[in-house]
Amino acid sequence: MQAKLVLGNWKMNGRHAANVSLLQSMLDDADINREGVGIAAPYPYLAQLAAMFAGSKLAVAAQDVSRYALDGAFTGEVCASMLADMGCRYVLVGHSERRQYFGENDACLREKLQAAVAAGMVPVYCVGETLEEREAGRFAEVVGEQLKTLDAIAGQEYVVAYEPVWAIGTGRVASIEQIDAAHQLILERVLQCHGASASIRVLYGGSVKADNADAILSLASVGGALVGGASLEIKGFGKICQSAKKTL
Ligand code: PEP
Repeated sequence: MQAKLVLGNWKMNGRHAANVSLLQSMLDDADINREGVGIAAPYPYLAQLAAMFAGSKLAVAAQDVSRYALDGAFTGEVCASMLADMGCRYVLVGHSERRQYFGENDACLREKLQAAVAAGMVPVYCVGETLEEREAGRFAEVVGEQLKTLDAIAGQEYVVAYEPVWAIGTGRVASIEQIDAAHQLILERVLQCHGASASIRVLYGGSVKADNADAILSLASVGGALVGGASLEIKGFGKICQSAKKTL
């Protein structure tokens, strides 16, 4: 059985000195410092993570990648091969905050997925519906449409993260039934498109905390967790990683 994957997403948080103590606590915690755990840090701190995680089991991840794969005149952009060069194993693509605040659309996300895979990283492709879409009964349509973007990297290694937009950073968690139903549907769609050989992990994200991690991560359809706020605090993150370990 594949290990459940826990990725912390620091979003736009962190400072060099504070990171040192948080990262050291992660390295010292056997529940956290193991295969299948990683941190997605802001670009300026990726080198710090890579240096501190060297020789450990923890993975370095980026929160975004440029749609432009080749070096050149793209001021402010960071391309996939630079991230791979920094030691990133995973990269988030299509996080709802990027879709919402930076207008990332299908065409752009296709290019980002392809660039990530071409550079040898594993993209973590984020999908999820807004509250309005869920209440209008449009969950399957919206998420089904977002999943079509994965055609750009069919047959390659990737991870999907299901993150209902209404549960991100709000403290509002989807119910266990909602999570299971959503994950079953995503797994079914991915298998339909990419064949029975696809062994895809679908992470759940949206206010995962120490006190709900056991229930969420014990679902067979949940391949791990994408953890925002709780990954900035060692005790809670350790407990989430422990829950993921228990369910192996
Ligand atoms: C996220 O940033 O992907 C996320 C799920 O955030 P939070 O855990 O804070 O809801």
